[in-house]
Amino acid sequence: MYTEHPTTVGEYFVGGRKMRVARIDEKICDKSPFCPAAASCRFKAFRVILGTSFRVNISIDEEKCTGCGVCVRYCGPGAIKLIEKEKAS
Ligand code: SF4
Repeated sequence: MYTEHPTTVGEYFVGGRKMRVARIDEKICDKSPFCPAAASCRFKAFRVILGTSFRVNISIDEEKCTGCGVCVRYCGPGAIKLIEKEKAS
């Protein structure tokens, strides 16, 4: 069962361990330089690198990601999923 950490809003822990991280599906991501999901992350977990042809390379730093899920709601194409931490590694 997921429980919200009492002192940090948006982090989900079970037994003191972070359980989820966000992951981008590269096949679905439209690589927009105006990515609203990247702008929505208050933990600055997104890395946005300018690419070619007005596209960017977007990735998520899983060490910074708290698994709060805010970016999932902001991603128009639905390219971001939350996955269990054990499956991420
Ligand atoms: S799940 Fe939360 S912390 Fe992780 S990348 Fe998305 S908005 Fe940032």
